Amino acid sequence: MTDKPLVAVTGASSGIGEAVARTFSAAGHPVLMMARRIDKMEAMGLPNVICREVDVRDRAAIKAAVQDAEAVYGPTDMMFVNAGIARLADIGRQPPEEWDEMIDINTKGAMNTIHAVMNDMMERRTGTIFMMSSIAGRKVYPDHTVYCGTKYFVHAVSESIREYLANYDVRVIVLSPGVIETEILSGVLDESTLAAYKDNKVKMGGGIGPEHVSEIMLHAYQMPQNALIQEICITPTRQT
Ligand code: NDP
Repeated sequence: MTDKPLVAVTGASSGIGEAVARTFSAAGHPVLMMARRIDKMEAMGLPNVICREVDVRDRAAIKAAVQDAEAVYGPTDMMFVNAGIARLADIGRQPPEEWDEMIDINTKGAMNTIHAVMNDMMERRTGTIFMMSSIAGRKVYPDHTVYCGTKYFVHAVSESIREYLANYDVRVIVLSPGVIETEILSGVLDESTLAAYKDNKVKMGGGIGPEHVSEIMLHAYQMPQNALIQEICITPTRQT
């Protein structure tokens, strides 16, 4: 067991979510890891971890996972609202089913995740919610139309709940990363968009590692509860 509070992460089976689970676990926190690929989370073998097969489109499943983890480790002090997908393509030829999927996971999934912890944090008058937006939540790209839409949504919700939860001493921190080396491009089915993205990435000297995101998040989390880093915008140096 550990005396550090419980942290919870959606999208913990790969990429930035996995890095955050590893970083906070190494700092001594018990971690609730949520994603659909439970085998990947279990294979990490982290101590004091509960792995749950959760689809963020299922509001009740997130809440149940949080309640079960809290029964073992106490209240959730940090929630990382992270699970997301990118289906990038020119809007004119993108199948609308890809819009639906992004909207359901990136926006409604984020709301479902906030819902699982927000009221308890307000009642306890403490806690931290990290919201995964993107540089694409601050700036548009022509072949990212719906993805940008979902991330602008996350940005707006984050700023709104930051103001709301400030009255309860709960911190909301929005992340706006640039290109991070993860599995996210595996979901891009449109070949010419993928080729253009990769070409651009080569020009910027590649993406940066997800551990840089998780390390700065741990730093922000470890600040005193009355000190808030409102937004973390981390990109490769050459990304403009
Ligand atoms: P990955 O593809 O490596 O990770 C995405 C994670 O989300 C996986 O763990 C996946 O798990 C999970 N996920 C996807 N859909 C669902 C779902 N329906 N229910 C539960 N979990 C789901 O990519 P990243 O680490 O890069 O992505 C994490 C977040 O970071 C996303 O929100 C992305 O938009 C954002 N981001 C990424 C950037 C980048 O350059 N990589 C830049 C800016 C933002 P599983 O498939 O097992 O369910």
